[in-house]
Amino acid sequence: MALKGLDIFKLSPKKNCKECGSPTCMAFSMKVAQGAVSVDACPYFSEDAKAQLNEATAPPMKTIKVGAGDSEMVLGGETVLFRHEKTFVNKTRYAVSLCNCMDDAAIEAKLAEIPKVDYERIGERMFVEMVYVNYCADAGKEKYLDLVKKAEGLGRVLILGCTDPDVAKEALELVKAGKPVLNGANASNYEAMSAVATAAGVVLGVQGADANELYDTVAALEKLGNKNLLIDCGVNSVKEAYAIAVQFRKAAIKDSDRTCGYPSIVRVDQLAKGNAHLQAALVSLFTMKYGSIVVLEQMTYAEALPLYGLRQNVFTDPQKPMKVEPGIYPLNGADENSICVTTVDFALTYFVVSGELERSGVPLNLIINDAGGLSVLTSWAAGKFSAGSIAKFFQEQDIEGKLKSRKLIIPGKVAVLKGELEAKLPGWEIIIAPKEAVQLVKFMKDITA
Ligand code: SF4
Repeated sequence: MALKGLDIFKLSPKKNCKECGSPTCMAFSMKVAQGAVSVDACPYFSEDAKAQLNEATAPPMKTIKVGAGDSEMVLGGETVLFRHEKTFVNKTRYAVSLCNCMDDAAIEAKLAEIPKVDYERIGERMFVEMVYVNYCADAGKEKYLDLVKKAEGLGRVLILGCTDPDVAKEALELVKAGKPVLNGANASNYEAMSAVATAAGVVLGVQGADANELYDTVAALEKLGNKNLLIDCGVNSVKEAYAIAVQFRKAAIKDSDRTCGYPSIVRVDQLAKGNAHLQAALVSLFTMKYGSIVVLEQMTYAEALPLYGLRQNVFTDPQKPMKVEPGIYPLNGADENSICVTTVDFALTYFVVSGELERSGVPLNLIINDAGGLSVLTSWAAGKFSAGSIAKFFQEQDIEGKLKSRKLIIPGKVAVLKGELEAKLPGWEIIIAPKEAVQLVKFMKDITA
């Protein structure tokens, strides 16, 4: 529950000395309650009172870090239930699962398959960021430890799925430097698992037979002082996993129930075992609501292209335009004599257009204008991509000093700019591109043939 001014006043020093800039401790307490000022502005609050206040004013959902070095990633920390309310801050991470119960050929095939999906879209690297390594007691500890070592070789953040504290301890000894997740605390082993995870300094995943047992186990771990946790939504059924994901997130954000305020892990590989299509559908569901890590059996390009595209859309801040840096981008080995193409700095436009231009194989200089991160027609309508703004940009960037070509291709959707642009950029031949990016390959080849 958020603290009210009166609650904070009760903890205040009541000196009314004005050193904090407020006339009284009561006025100061009201400002702290509104979030207008930090409690640290008063030098007289006791450490105890500050600790109580920090606990009460902390975000409803914990931010948890996993992985180390360049592979470190942040989970949770969300403050809203819906993206349109503000923004989601830490994207869902995708993991592919391995198990020591798999035969050697299947393990090798999967280890070889995981690195194959690796590409960039709108400035973001798309790849399998995590690997879930499940322990099956029947398949033996040695094979598991061997598999953990092999999986570590992929250079991804590991999730060790193991409910045996002794085996978990041995596995963590091998890979704890990479700050993996240990997923496997439950009602019967949580004390031992917490000790193992805490000793290795890793995040602990908590499981439960149902939502109530899960909640109670998380609460018991918190009592032990372990708040470095993940909530496992379980493998009983899709319905139950979805209910846990939604109810826990809702309880954390709307009701400020901190016991529910941990990032989640969803085992889609178990909820729809052997059904790649259903798994892909479930990953999309849990990307939107509310999986922090979603585990699936495979990630080929067939799964990756729609899922990473969806994730990028969901976890983009709707309040910030997606922009690329304005300037000259030489493509296909262009030099100063290569033909020029210009468009706006909206990231999606840039990546779609530059992709097609690259496919054409024609050397060219792509000149990206500063159009406020808006699309071609929107920026044109807003006056940010006009003949005047393009000419001004050319002058500011000294395009004529840097490039010798005087042929400039403009987007087909703003063909109307041709005449005015020819007047503002004397000596330039203005050429109108097709309206659709997909037509650029043929157009570029034809025009430079
Ligand atoms: S500095 Fe602290 S003690 Fe002094 S008025 Fe402000 S809140 Fe009260």
